[in-house]
Amino acid sequence: MSLRVARSIAALRRYVTAARSRGQKIGFVPTMGALHEGHLSLVRRARKDNACVVVSIFVNPLQFGPQEDYRRYPRTLARDRTMLADACDCLFVPDARQMYGPEFRTHVEVQGWSDVWCGESRPGHFRGVATVVAKLFNIVQPDQAYFGHKDIQQALLIRRMSEDLSFPVKIRILPTVREPDGLAMSSRNAYLSHEHRQQATVISRALDEAVKTVREGNRDAEVVIGRVRQRLRQASEASVEYIGIMDPVTLDKVRMVERSSILLLAVRFGNTRLIDNCVLGES
Ligand code: AMP
Repeated sequence: MSLRVARSIAALRRYVTAARSRGQKIGFVPTMGALHEGHLSLVRRARKDNACVVVSIFVNPLQFGPQEDYRRYPRTLARDRTMLADACDCLFVPDARQMYGPEFRTHVEVQGWSDVWCGESRPGHFRGVATVVAKLFNIVQPDQAYFGHKDIQQALLIRRMSEDLSFPVKIRILPTVREPDGLAMSSRNAYLSHEHRQQATVISRALDEAVKTVREGNRDAEVVIGRVRQRLRQASEASVEYIGIMDPVTLDKVRMVERSSILLLAVRFGNTRLIDNCVLGES
């Protein structure tokens, strides 16, 4: 089966309408491209669950701040197409003009969840994410949509939005795919210098340390965060933006770790901002 590429909203709609009329379930994986194994794990799972799989590649200007990397974000469409050739049915690659006409003014905001954790240092980011995903859901009308645990705040926010606005879509959150040395795969890893790339392995070691600390019976969030901070100090170039432990239902900070509590962090190496997280109570 050959990969269909839809560049316009109308073409994508025609494609999914035809698939649906054949009784096919639609699985959807939204991405910003520069694909890696993390993305492909979502696509493969979508393939298992649905007869028709749509992947979108759209570097969404709404979710980048004015000082952020929108312009230099890696764009590798030819390579992405090759990677998807046998993995999905339809690739949706709208350009920014397709998505946001000159009169565009409507935004979606998940109140109270957009300005915490990553949102604190990225004002407008989650509003941009919620808006583009709402729009993509309306275009693709998927039965199921797939997101990575790596961007846990984003995934939970999309699930909240979908429930609040009654989007008829199931949100699936899949495990973080890591490099052999533990670094979470990310399109932004390509920005790292050799030295920073080596030092960045400290992040997953710090997460392991957090899990171990909890397993040893320490449930005080401050103690766990302290251990993580200490571990991150081993990397001379790591600059911590935040480390916290949250409840996955409310996104509130927790003082005492529960089984479902999530430790999440953002660390900079030079200009590159990396995020990662882990569930603390899972064995
Ligand atoms: P992005 O292209 O970075 O916007 O990511 C698109 C989707 O892939 C999001 O749902 C991400 O959470 C997911 N994703 C990114 N990196 C990983 C990873 N290492 N493991 C699993 N999912 C990932």
